[in-house]
Amino acid sequence: MMKGLLVLTVLFVAIFGKETFEGDQVLRITGKDEVQLALLKDLAEMEHLQLDVWMEPNDLSTPVDIRVPFTSLQTVKAFLETEDIPYSVMIMDLQVMLDEEQDQMLSARAAAPRTTNDYDYSNYHDIADIYSFQDMLVAENPNLVSKIVIGQSYQGRTLNVLKFSTGGTNRPGIWLDTGIHSREWITQASGTWFAKKIVTDYGHDAALTAILDKMDIFLEIVTNPDGYYYTHNSNRMWRKTRKPNPGSSCVGTDPNRNWDAGFGEPGSSGSPCSETYRGPEAHSESEVNSIVDFVKSHGNLKAFVSIHSYSQMLLYPYGYTSTPCKDQSELHDLAMKAITELASLYGTSYRYGSTINTIYQASGTTVDWTYNQGIKYSYTFELRDTGRYGFILPANQILPTAKETWLALMAIMEHTKDNTN
Ligand SMILES: [Zn+2]
Repeated sequence: MMKGLLVLTVLFVAIFGKETFEGDQVLRITGKDEVQLALLKDLAEMEHLQLDVWMEPNDLSTPVDIRVPFTSLQTVKAFLETEDIPYSVMIMDLQVMLDEEQDQMLSARAAAPRTTNDYDYSNYHDIADIYSFQDMLVAENPNLVSKIVIGQSYQGRTLNVLKFSTGGTNRPGIWLDTGIHSREWITQASGTWFAKKIVTDYGHDAALTAILDKMDIFLEIVTNPDGYYYTHNSNRMWRKTRKPNPGSSCVGTDPNRNWDAGFGEPGSSGSPCSETYRGPEAHSESEVNSIVDFVKSHGNLKAFVSIHSYSQMLLYPYGYTSTPCKDQSELHDLAMKAITELASLYGTSYRYGSTINTIYQASGTTVDWTYNQGIKYSYTFELRDTGRYGFILPANQILPTAKETWLALMAIMEHTKDNTN
């Protein structure tokens, strides 16, 4: 009977319900010393508090952002006050912000666009919209764009990659992906804009044309489709894949800790309930393994750029070790050039450096693996903002974010072209 009730409840939520976040707050916590930092790491691990870490405790230079469910707020604030750890409330009521985001999406919703010119790039879209956008773009530009299906997600959605190519066989390639963490909506929205930008600029912009005359560009916009569907229909704050974990009620693996590069080392979690759960083994997630297969079978990728949000950073390997990668000085100089280009449009400022030195130790990440595969120009972006809205970046920032990021991507792609035989 209890079980029947539980099944009914789950069914009810699945059909009618979205998880709500009423009264949840996002706290920005700034540890003053190593002792406080250690306390924050312990706090983040306390599973009964159901904390959702948006920016992890790392060093004293970066604040820690944590979404605290309403039911844990008193406990967490009392803890911080007792330990004399400074904090501020960054988001007062998460649900209020999500309601605004939803209202904006609904009010912008028009009849389905019939061409990619009618597509509303200044608003967020669900997976059906983005998938039909991809098909329209291919149909409109058959000599430039094709769609490759590199695999299927755990729940059976196709993993679509747009290939931009002006000919040749197995030309050197540049890979871009967005949305491997599903809740980072600014990334899929930017990726959609990038796709349209490429077809618009080819034959008109000399730099982009020169790149495509020599190289192919591959773009996976919805890299974690099950997660993305889930953020629209059940839980806006979902980050991981949607594959169940045997023996645990917690679902999903962090697809940016699942790669075979320092897999299982510090900087990921072995607990299925953690947001940084690495999975049972490297490449256990089909969303990851499909890219692994693609990269290996292609064999000629020269740049690999994986796009996340938030915190405004441009990162190069490594994340799992503090040993500098052998191309560090070139990657560092190119990162500086890219963020200088980015800032030239609206003055948005980025930090840059190796992952471990700039953000935190992270093991099993995408670009550490691609770099170790010999893809020299491997970078991770963390797009806007620095925390005012975090993952709930208002839609009116989509176009500015996409446009400024494109300048940085162009800097990386041009450099790659100039340094590829
Ligand atoms: Zn991410």
